[in-house]
Amino acid sequence: MTGALRERFWERYTLEELTTAEWEALCDGCGQCCLLKLHDEESQELAVLNVACRLLDTHSCQCSDYENRFDFVPDCTQLTPELVKEFTWLPPTCGYRRVAEGRKLAGWHPLLSNDAERVHRKGVSVRSYAVSQDDVPEHRLESHIIAVLPM
Ligand code: SF4
Ligand code: SF4
Repeated sequence: MTGALRERFWERYTLEELTTAEWEALCDGCGQCCLLKLHDEESQELAVLNVACRLLDTHSCQCSDYENRFDFVPDCTQLTPELVKEFTWLPPTCGYRRVAEGRKLAGWHPLLSNDAERVHRKGVSVRSYAVSQDDVPEHRLESHIIAVLPM
């Protein structure tokens, strides 16, 4: 797949200009966007949980059925350049957010390190703390809040 990627494309092109392969490669595999969130319309806050979508493999931090995910998780969102700007909750480490903001990728990003494990060793991924949605009853979700962000 790397053969289809243009040389240091993340520094030379905007999100809108990326090919599908480049777009997918820009994800650092942290899994943070697959954590469940609770919206509080009244306070306009977004609570992030350490509970991951049931399709997330909490060890690899990859979606376990990326191709067919919408069949199982209809509210999973296909990230687009527009949504990267809109989703202010994306972590500052996120590869898409960095490129959208004109920042460099971190040295641990797989595109630079060629090592998909570094995002885990650096503690950027959710591997060390995420639990699966299948293991948390609905009424216990609020006790899994790990951050509250403005919407
Ligand atoms: S937060 Fe960004 S980099 Fe991390 S998994 Fe989600 S899309 Fe990929
Ligand atoms: S369906 Fe896959 S990509 Fe979508 S939120 Fe769940 S784990 Fe993440």
